[in-house]
Order: sequence, then C-alpha cells, then structure tokens
Amino acid sequence: MNQRRQLDASKRLRKMHEDLLRAYGPQHWWPAKTPFEVILGAYLTQNTAWKAVERSLENLRLAGALTPEGLRRIPLAKLRRLIRPSGFIMRKAPALKAFVALLYKEFGGSLEAMAAMPTAALRQRLLELPGVGDETADAILLYALGHAVPVADEYLRRIAERHGLVVLPAGRAKISYDDLADLTRRAFAGDAEESRAQLFNEFHALTVAVGKAHCGRAARCEGCPLAADLKSNS
Ligand code: SF4
Repeated sequence: MNQRRQLDASKRLRKMHEDLLRAYGPQHWWPAKTPFEVILGAYLTQNTAWKAVERSLENLRLAGALTPEGLRRIPLAKLRRLIRPSGFIMRKAPALKAFVALLYKEFGGSLEAMAAMPTAALRQRLLELPGVGDETADAILLYALGHAVPVADEYLRRIAERHGLVVLPAGRAKISYDDLADLTRRAFAGDAEESRAQLFNEFHALTVAVGKAHCGRAARCEGCPLAADLKSNS
C-alpha cells in the first residue's frame, strides 16, 4: 500500500471511531471489576462467547479464586472444573496457572510491578507464555496493565477488509494481526500520547459493538453507523 493510501486509511479509521462513538456512546470496557479479573477474562474468552466466560468467572469467585493468590492455591484439577463453561479446559487451566507462576516468580505476585515493565519487553514476556497470542497479550497489556497498545480482533479485521482499509499482499488470505494493529496505531497517532490508552480501549470496545450489531460473518450494512464510509469509498 502506498503512503497516500495508508494515510487515507488511517484518517478514515479515526473518523470511523468518532462515528461509532456518536452512535453507541462510551462502552466502559473491559467488563470486569479488577485488573486480575480482566486477565482471567482475556484467557477464558478465547474461542468462547462472553456469557460462558461470565459463568466461569462466577465459579472462580465462589471458590475464592478471583485473586492471584486464590488462583495460585487452587489445584489444577479443580481449576479445570471451575472454568468448564468456557471450554478448552485442558489448555486454558494450565495457561492460567502459568501466568500466575510468572507473576509470582518475576514480580512477587504484584500486577503493579508487572505493569511497570516497559511495554515491548512485557509484551514479549507475555507472548512466551502458553496460551497467549497477540490478541490476548494486547488485551492484558491495555485493559489490565494500562499500556497504550491497540487490540486487533476478528471484528476489526472484517471491517478493515470490507471497507478496503488494507490491501492484502498477493497470496495472503487474511490481514495479519500486525497490519491491523499498525493501522490502528496510525489512526490515533495524532492524538495526545496520554489519551492513547483510553482511545485504544474505547475503539476496540466500539468495533466489538458494531461487529455484534452489524458486521458479523454476514454484513448487515443497513442502519450501520459505518455505512456512509462504505458507500463513499466503494
Ligand atoms: S456492516 Fe457494512 S457498513 Fe457496517 S461495518 Fe460492516 S461492512 Fe461496514
């Protein structure tokens, strides 16, 4: 994609954020009471609907495992049972245990100490953990630890592809995670640095909102807040 086109795409995405905010209002994300709950949710929501995650979180709450210490103490077999509603328990339970082990081994059990690590190094450290890909690492960084990183997900990918915001290189079937994250970073590059974490937070929540309401596997463009952008650029 040439530079001019990249600039146009990032400006359009920035405007789409305003259009979504006007249509839906602030989303108040992430739906959790504590940063640790955000982290649990980021793992449990992989390939799973949020309703199922809520049932798992409630099980963990009743078992006193919604804190780092509580989760550390709970035996693995019991953890598997508690998170059963979210599925993939053989993968997710050990992954959660690995996160807590890292938290205690390297940060004394403190999320504040973990959050104080520089973004790039912390992101790399998270990606080395089992069960953590780009989206989970960035959701933890942004929503639980307050780092200004964009979260790119399937909803954003659909919007970017359907609106022609990125051009797929020959032979590639999907936009890469990094391309989507870069596009989002460029869209908000003109905003004050101190407001960027909040903007990335809101933008991700809003793209999920429009994705659920209109831009799922099939696009339902009628009445969509982004229909004007689609029309004027198609
Ligand atoms: S539903 Fe249509 S207008 Fe809305 S985001 Fe998807 S492609 Fe764009």
